[in-house]
Amino acid sequence: TLRRSLGVGAFSTVHLATHTCGALVAIKRIDKAALTTPDELHRAGCEIRLLKKLCHPNIVRLHHTFATNDSLCLVLEYAPHGELFDYIVARVRLDDATACRFFKQALSGLRHLHEEMHWAHRDIKPENLLLDKDLNIRIADFGLSSPCAPGGMVGPACGSPCYAAPEMLTRAGGDAYEGHPADFWALGIVLYAMLEGQLPFEDNGSAGLYNRIISGRYRTPTRASASGKSMLRFMLKTSPRERPR
Ligand code: ATP
Ligand code: MG
Repeated sequence: TLRRSLGVGAFSTVHLATHTCGALVAIKRIDKAALTTPDELHRAGCEIRLLKKLCHPNIVRLHHTFATNDSLCLVLEYAPHGELFDYIVARVRLDDATACRFFKQALSGLRHLHEEMHWAHRDIKPENLLLDKDLNIRIADFGLSSPCAPGGMVGPACGSPCYAAPEMLTRAGGDAYEGHPADFWALGIVLYAMLEGQLPFEDNGSAGLYNRIISGRYRTPTRASASGKSMLRFMLKTSPRERPR
């Protein structure tokens, strides 16, 4: 039974629902009519294929899938504390200990995705990091994910511009860039947002934003601890080779 809406994305709506067994679940309904190109169809297939294989405490669990005449439906574990984005906004910024806990959990989920599953997420941002009943991070939204072994390349660039790594913008390697370090850059932006309550790179126009990202220069967070600042420097290295991998 569908209850209220939890979120609306580019290709889907997510509803809170009650399962026939009584449990609360989230149902992500992907509108078949919105999947007009072979690429969009491929992406929806990839998201379902990957979610079926994923099993990690910091990744949202897929219970099952079904189709109706007009939609593909993913029955997901419900994350009752919602998006990390709203959690940060409600508190302006997070203290070091909380930010560190969320960061380590997101990192753990990403390492599983990268090293054990050989995929890249490609859309890491606080809107796609959900909080479960125990306030643990659950990585969600694998709609842009690609198969990617360690050291592997993906492309073309996708995701939200504010979270894009410099190598996605300079296109030194044509349309392709290394998948895993770009996810770590995006997680570095999330860490900054948690510690400072703002994004490190912002501008009114996209050209200005891209220049700021490529320069790699951001305002040092004022309230973060020395170790928080040092971790940010590590995650936000402009060269993907110098980032964690
Ligand atoms: P977008 O294109 O905007 O990234 P999308 O269509 O890929 O969105 P999701 O990001 O998977 O869809 O979900 C949209 C929103 O719905 C999430 O940001 C979140 O607020 C909510 N949501 C998704 N899954 C769950 C869940 N399992 N539990 C609680 N809320 C959820
Ligand atoms: Mg999303």
